[in-house]
Amino acid sequence: MGKLIDITGQRFGRLTVLGRAGIYRAPDQETICLTWRCRCDCGNETVVIGNNLKHGYTKSCGCLRKEIASERMRAYHDKRQRTADGI
Ligand SMILES: [Zn+2]
Repeated sequence: MGKLIDITGQRFGRLTVLGRAGIYRAPDQETICLTWRCRCDCGNETVVIGNNLKHGYTKSCGCLRKEIASERMRAYHDKRQRTADGI
């Protein structure tokens, strides 16, 4: 096991780490990960697995993904609208 790295106070994307939340045990019962309590820029608090923060998989409470999705959806509708107008 590697030594415990304290990432309290660090930022990952929109998330600021508030402190350790606990331990996540994977379904195989062998993989154990630390989880961290984080505050997102949008004001939500969320608990994230440490490795996901370090590898950049998790950068928000989920709001970032929703925004990207809605942005794509808007672009899609804009394009459809232009097509419908014959431009
Ligand atoms: Zn958020």
